[in-house]
Amino acid sequence: MRNLNCKNCGGIMIYDVSSMTAHCRFCGTSYVLDHKDTDYFKTFYKQMVESSKDEDRKIRNDSLWENADVISFTTNDGQVIELKYLHSYTDKCADVYVTRRNIAFHFRKGMNDKAEHFRKMVSALDYPSADTRSLADFFPRVTGAFMLDDDTSLIVINKREEEYPLRLFGKLGGRHIAWIISRLENLCCVLEYNAVVHPEIDPDTVYINPNNHTACLYCNWWSVQQRNTRGDNGQLLTTADNLKGLRTTARSLLETEEVTPDTPKALLDFIGSEPRFDAYEDFAYWDEMLIKAFGERKFIKMDTEDSDVYGKQGNT
Ligand SMILES: [Zn+2]
Repeated sequence: MRNLNCKNCGGIMIYDVSSMTAHCRFCGTSYVLDHKDTDYFKTFYKQMVESSKDEDRKIRNDSLWENADVISFTTNDGQVIELKYLHSYTDKCADVYVTRRNIAFHFRKGMNDKAEHFRKMVSALDYPSADTRSLADFFPRVTGAFMLDDDTSLIVINKREEEYPLRLFGKLGGRHIAWIISRLENLCCVLEYNAVVHPEIDPDTVYINPNNHTACLYCNWWSVQQRNTRGDNGQLLTTADNLKGLRTTARSLLETEEVTPDTPKALLDFIGSEPRFDAYEDFAYWDEMLIKAFGERKFIKMDTEDSDVYGKQGNT
C-alpha cells in the first residue's frame, strides 16, 4: 500500500478515506486527499474485505502482498533485519510496520524507555484462571527486541497472517461492528482484570481476523498504565477510558449514524452511551443491547450483506 509523507515532519500519514483526509499521528497535521487517493484506498479496502472470503483466500492474500515494500534495519551487532510490510505509519513514539506475521515498532531516538515500557506492560499481563479461550492470543507477544546501530530500538510482536489493522477495512455494516464490539468488550474485561488502562483503543491499535471474528489489541502498549495513574497528557486514567475507546472505535466504523436496518437504534444507543461502572457490567449491558439490536447471534462471513446475519427473535 502506498505511503503519503507528512509535509510537516516527514512521518508516514494515516488515511481517513471517509473524511477524505490523511493525518499524522506524530505531529497532528491533517491533509485533504484528492479523489484519486480516496479511490485508491476504497479499492484497497474492498480488496481487504474480499481477501476474507473462503474461496481463493490464499490467492487473494498473496495478491495483497504483491506490492508490499521492504525496509531494513541494522542491529548494533551488525545483523541486518529485513521487513516486508503491507502497511505502515508514524505514531508518536515509533514508526509501525505491519508485516505478514509480525508488527514491528521502530522507536524514535530518545524513545527507548517507551520500548521498555511496552515490553513491561505486555509481559505483566495476567489472565483469569478460568480462561478457556486463550485470551493471551489476543494480546501482543514480543518475539524480538533489538538495539539498532543508531541507538534506537526495534520491537517485533507476533500477529497471525489473517489479522490486519481494523483501519484497513474501512467502514463496516452494523452486524460486523456488533461482533467487533463483543470482542472488544472481552478484551476490556482482561484490561479490567489487570487493573490497566489502554488510552489508545482505536482502529490502528485493534487488529481483526474477519474470517473467524476475532479482535486483538496489539499496538501502543507504551501508553498503557495502571488504573488511576496519570497518562502522558497528565489526565487520570480510569476504566471508563478503555470503554470510551471501545465506543469511539465502533463509531469510526459506522457508515451512517442514522437508524437503518443494518444499524438499529439499540446499536447506536450503545455507541452513544456512557460506559458502565466497569468492563464486566459494560459487557452485560452490551449483551442486552446486542439482543435488542439484532436478536440471537449467528456467525456470518465478512462479505455477507444485510440479510441473515443475526435473526431477529420471533422473526425468522
Ligand atoms: Zn507529521
